[in-house]
This record gives sequence, structure tokens and C-alpha cells, in this order.
Amino acid sequence: AMSLQSSTPEALRVVNLLQERNLLPPTPIPAPAPCLPQDLQKLNCNPEVFRCTLTSIPQTQSLLNKAKMPLGLLLHPFKDLSQLPVVTSSTIVRCRSCRTYINPFVSFLDQRRWKCNLCYRVNDVPEEFMYNPVSRSYGEPHKRPEVQNATIEFIAPSEYMLRPPQPAVYLFVLDVSHNAVETGYLNVFCQSLLENINALPGDSRTKVGFITFDSTIHFYNLQEGLSQPQMLIVSDIEDIFLPTPDSLLVNLNECKELVQDLLKSLPNLFEKTMETQSALGSALQAAFKLLSPTGGRMSVFQTQLPNLGVGALQSREDPNQRASAKDIQHLSPATDFYKKLALDCSGQQVAVDLFLLSAQYCDLASLGCISRYSAGSVYYYPSYHHQHNPAQVERFQKDLKRYLTRKIGFEAVMRIRCTKGLSIHTFHGNFFVRSTDLLSLPNVNPDAGFAVQMSIEENLDEMQVVSFQAALLYTSSKGERRIRVHTLCLPVVSSLSDIFSGADVQAITGLLACMAVDRSVTASLSDARDAMTNAAIDSLTSYRQSVLTIQQPGLLAPACLRLFPLFILALLKQKAFRTGTSTRLDDRVFAMCQLKYQPLAYAMLMIHPALYRVDDLTDEGALNINERTIPQPRVLQLSVEKLSREGAFLMDAGIVMYLWIGRNCHPNFLTQVLGVPSYAAVPDNLYLLPELDTAESQRTRAFIGWLRDQRPFYPSLHVIRDESQLKASFMQNMIEDRTESALSYYEFLLHLQQQISK
Ligand SMILES: [Zn+2]
Repeated sequence: AMSLQSSTPEALRVVNLLQERNLLPPTPIPAPAPCLPQDLQKLNCNPEVFRCTLTSIPQTQSLLNKAKMPLGLLLHPFKDLSQLPVVTSSTIVRCRSCRTYINPFVSFLDQRRWKCNLCYRVNDVPEEFMYNPVSRSYGEPHKRPEVQNATIEFIAPSEYMLRPPQPAVYLFVLDVSHNAVETGYLNVFCQSLLENINALPGDSRTKVGFITFDSTIHFYNLQEGLSQPQMLIVSDIEDIFLPTPDSLLVNLNECKELVQDLLKSLPNLFEKTMETQSALGSALQAAFKLLSPTGGRMSVFQTQLPNLGVGALQSREDPNQRASAKDIQHLSPATDFYKKLALDCSGQQVAVDLFLLSAQYCDLASLGCISRYSAGSVYYYPSYHHQHNPAQVERFQKDLKRYLTRKIGFEAVMRIRCTKGLSIHTFHGNFFVRSTDLLSLPNVNPDAGFAVQMSIEENLDEMQVVSFQAALLYTSSKGERRIRVHTLCLPVVSSLSDIFSGADVQAITGLLACMAVDRSVTASLSDARDAMTNAAIDSLTSYRQSVLTIQQPGLLAPACLRLFPLFILALLKQKAFRTGTSTRLDDRVFAMCQLKYQPLAYAMLMIHPALYRVDDLTDEGALNINERTIPQPRVLQLSVEKLSREGAFLMDAGIVMYLWIGRNCHPNFLTQVLGVPSYAAVPDNLYLLPELDTAESQRTRAFIGWLRDQRPFYPSLHVIRDESQLKASFMQNMIEDRTESALSYYEFLLHLQQQISK
């Protein structure tokens, strides 16, 4: 193994956390670069796509155990990329023994043979690979694009398909009960689909269909030649059948006018409905039957607890227990109906996305299974209402636009391979695990994240480096079978100090969050909370005992872990895991879904929001993007000490942003940015910044717009004052401060120190 000790002094600089109180960097924290020779590191995978909790891999499991940090990978495998090399080749070069794709970290023994970096088998270089299509030269296989790019996509030949590539198929399943009609979501949905109907990914084979439901299931015959859509009602929800064999899923191009007619009339069809019941389970079974022959994407919009037929659920939430410090009940599903159906869907290449728009408890812990095991995703709009909640309406609109137009892969599988000796034992995310390392993904979307935990089964003696390779095989919306491959290479080390110096504190936090979600459901919330606190205690104890050569008083951490206790405290106060603060059960469960499913960058914003002062934005240090100047204010610690009554502060918590206005906020900001004469005149429920023609307004909107542009979902913005209802939500993110039921950051550090010196 390599010795890195001389090369990374900064990561191991000793920091006394009790003394240094300004540890949060003013700019976003970059991923640590693995300590590799420059030629290898230059070729390594982008950390936004693929990264490891420990960028220096321990040589043995016992060494990993001593370090007390989790070993795992975080992936964002189908992320939108600005540049992606695509290779068309009749032979895809893979190791004959372990099926690894040839990659930048293999070694060429000579011109004709390459050694696999995962199993070490020596393979022959096929004749075709000797020709380099980029340089158009012969005899330089090491210059092929496959060995020059850690991320690459192959167009797969026919042996990579079990059946002809499926067309893009979209089925929309819509709750039209009285409650649903009251929310007014249907109008926004239909409008959005009308606007984006030509932007749905697909080709001339694309199919669409619609089902609406209340106490009965309504199908829509959209057959070409009909003068208008025909509604077919099935009222026997106990024994669902399809009223007509075809013409329920129709070719979008051929039947576009009928589809458009339906979307224009749907919002009015149920205006006067008195139906209060919701037979969601039967509707999903019907949708499954409809999609089974082809597979595809099922988008389900639900506004209440399903209360009729199979899959009916009961209200399990006790509102008096929302703030309970005791254990939270009902985090696991009440029935396996939704999980079983999801597995059936997965088997037929059907993914289910759930849009939950509800003011009341919906038992997301049960409903969410339909997406989790079918590789779908859950969207949640609590208290959605077309009039009373315009911020949610705006978010729903923007999210739908992204949802309908983002790229999509069908009938996908992902396999993650690692160098011999390493083994993956737990997966996190939305999918079904088909065999030990094969994830079944009926759909793959560009906004999904995954994480895995690993162990070291055989010592990695004699190894300088190890590699990880994720291969995602999918059918594109144009009917091409493609394989996207990412390869990550990391050094192996044999000393604890080298392991510590390579720790990626954000990746560790993200993985611990996934582990804590599992722990909350399988054991209890208090177990999960203890485990997170212990992760901080145990790793810092190990560091103190095994790495530090000179003992000194204080709470000591290596520089690379200096934010670890802060992030753990933030996790403990996160909606998913907090106690003592009133938290609706569905809100908590949704936060847990998000932590498991979101790529690390977005999960980190949920865990530890970014706080900025924005009443004094300047062009100093600003970015220039597309001729727009984007101010770059510094990131502040999450403490009320950082607020000022004279200022205005923006908190970016991922899915939501708060703009807090101080009571004595400078009048300039009020008039030039908010367009109001005084603090008292700031309206309640302000969620849009006026487009004023002032430099201040332009700067503020440019900054917020830039933050929004960097994520695939749309965070709503809430302008708040001290009097605002949402002030508590803003203040709860001030995780460094003490609350009635939770420690301050300083108290938490003292608690850790006490445990460590025991
Ligand atoms: Zn191999």
C-alpha cells in the first residue's frame, strides 16, 4: 500500500473544536481528491457522479473497524452531463472473467493484452480495439476513448437486450375524488401536460394513457377516429379488468388531438363530484394491467388516504404524539399491498411515481413503497391548494415541467462492481435488488441518487489501488439500448492516519443518514439517533487514540473531519430524525425518503442548509454566466448570532428557501428588492420577488435564480418576518442554537468530549 503521510498534511491538521468556532467555510465544500498519482487522478470519475466515504481504502476489515467510519459509495449515475463520450462499437471490451468494462485504470501488459483492474485476469485486446476512432490511428489501444474517460456511454448491440427495445409509454393515474377536485391540482396538471406534450421524451412509437378514479375506475378510450374521448367506467373494483384490450394506451402522435381534448375537458368533468372515496389500490392494479405488456412509467396523483377496496389504509397518526420525545410509531408500512404491487410492477418494467398533494395524513410510510421498490420517486406537496397555497402551486408547476421533459431510461439494470476483496452488502435508494449486485430499475431518471455500504472481505495486500465500476444498462426514449459506465479508482492504505486523512465528511454524513433511516424503521428512532451520535464519538475516539501522537486537552479532530460533529448535530435536528419538535408523520417519512433517494449535493442542503446575507450583495467575487452577474455571498453558520435585525438573510434548505427580513432591515432593501415602503408592509405569504428595475433587485433575483438552476427540482421561496407563521420553520434550521429539547452545537461538542474522554 501507498504511504501518503507526507503528502496530505492539511487534512490531518489537528483542530480543537472547542476552541475554533468559525469552522464552516464561506464557500461550498469541495469533495476531497483521492491521493493518487496525477496521471490517474486526472482520469478519475467526477465526484458529483461517483464518490466514496473514504477516499483512501483501508487494506483490511480490521483496520476499517478501527477507524469507526462507514465505508460506502454514493452515486448519481444518470445525472445530466454537459459532456458525455458515446462509443458505437460492435465489440464492447469486457473482462472475460468478471465482465468489467475496459476502463482508464486497467493496465496494458503489451499492445495485445490488458489486465483487469477488478479481478486481475489478463485479457486479449480484440483486433477492432486496436483502431482508435478518435485519432484514426492503428496500434494504440491505450488511447481509445474507453481508456481515456471514466464516464462513458456505449450503444449496446443486440445481445444486451432480452426483447426489442420498448417504446416510451406514459400512463397518468389521477385521483378525482371530491377532495382532489377541491385542491384544484387537476387543472395545473392538465395545463402542464398540454404545454409539454411535444417535449415528452420519446419518438414516433411513444404511447400515452389516462385513468381517473374515485370509488370507481375510469378508463379513457382514445382510439384514432373517435370524435371525442370515451370514458369507460369499471365499478367492480374487487375484480379489475380492462374494458377494452387496446385503445387505452394510444400512440401519442396519431391520437394527439384526442389526448389534447381529454386534457382540456378533464378539469371540468368532475367539478360537481360528491364522491369522497378513493379506491387507489384498485386503480393501481388497473394501471399495472394496462402497462404490463410494454412496461413504462406510471404517474400517480393522490390527494387523500385511500379508503376503499384493496390497499385501503387507516389513519395511524396520533397528533398528540407529533412532538413526542419517546419513540415515533408507524414509520413502517401498515400493509405490504403497495410493496407487493411495486415488485409486480418491477417485474414488468413498470416504475411508479407518486405525487402526493394532501392536507391530511396519507400514510406515506405505506404508500411510498409503491415508488421505492419500483425505482420511482415520491413528490410531496403538503396542504396543496390552488388558492390558499400559491407557493406550492408554483412548485408543483415547475416540478411537473422538469418531470415531463427530463430524459428517461426504460427497462434498466445497474450493477456495481468492485475490485476483488471488496464486497457490497447494503443498498440505499429506490429499486429492487434482483441479485447480490444487480439493481432492477424499471425506469431510471437523471435526478435519482444511490448509496451502497461495503466491507472488506479479503485483505487488499499488495494492492496500490482498487476500482469501482457502476454500469447502467437501459433503453433510451429513442429505442436505443445503451450502457453508461462510471469507474472510480482509489488508493489502498495501511495506516489509520492515512484512512483519516482521506475521509470525505459529506459523503460519510450522507451515508450515515441513509443508514439512520433504515435503523429508524427496523429498530427505532432513538436507536438511529444514538447510532449517529456514536458515529461521531467512535471515530473521534479512534482518531485520538490511534492517530494523534501528542495528547492534548480539548475535543480534537483532523481538519478533514472538523465539520463532522456539526453535520451529525444537523442530522439529529433534521425533520427525519428530530424529537421534541412537532413533526407530522408524513413530513417525517418524506424527509426520510428524500435522504435515501437524493444525490448527495441536494441531501446536504436538506441536512445543513446554506445561509447567506443578501441585503448587501455586491459584484465583488461574482460569477459571470451568460452575461449575467451572479453575486456570491459567503455561507454563514446556522445560528441566530449570525442574523442581524438590520439585514435580510436567505436560507437555502434544498426543497425550500426562506428570505428572513430583519425588523430594522435597511429601507433600501425593502423598497429596491421587495417593493414595499416599510417592514410592516411586507405581505404575509409573499413567495415571489417583484421584478423591479433596480440593481439590488436584479442582484437578489440573479442569485436566487442561480441557486435554483443548480438543482432539478424547484424550491419554493418564502419571505418571512418575525410575525410570520413560517418563522418557526426558518428558526428550526438554526441548528447551532439551543432549543427547549435539543442541545446547542457547543453543548453537543461538550457531550462528545465527555464521552470520548471516558
Ligand atoms: Zn476482471
